[in-house]
Amino acid sequence: MHEAGAVAGALERVIGAWTSADGGRHIEIEIRDATRAEPEAVAFYADAILAERGLDEVTVSVRTTAVDCALCGARAAASPANPQCDACGAPLPRLDGPAVVAHEVAVVAAEMSGPMACA
Ligand SMILES: [Zn+2]
Repeated sequence: MHEAGAVAGALERVIGAWTSADGGRHIEIEIRDATRAEPEAVAFYADAILAERGLDEVTVSVRTTAVDCALCGARAAASPANPQCDACGAPLPRLDGPAVVAHEVAVVAAEMSGPMACA
């Protein structure tokens, strides 16, 4: 799976210097390009990588940046298996750079930012 390498690279930028979970930390992983990574796979690999590093207490959330069709403007439910627009069938635009990025989120902010806060 492509996600394993992408998630490892994104997480390493965040947790590279960590030696412990420090009583609970939260990492938000953002899928920038939904045609190249699946949320379920990203969450799976993130958990596995954190467990391997002894950072089991770190919590992870996965967020997918919405993709709009460049041709018809429809909001697409993109995935690696479905990289086309559902409405018109055009291929969805691919982003340059990493498909997955990660950053640490302060725990207080993480509790406040539900799906509604991101809209
Ligand atoms: Zn379209």
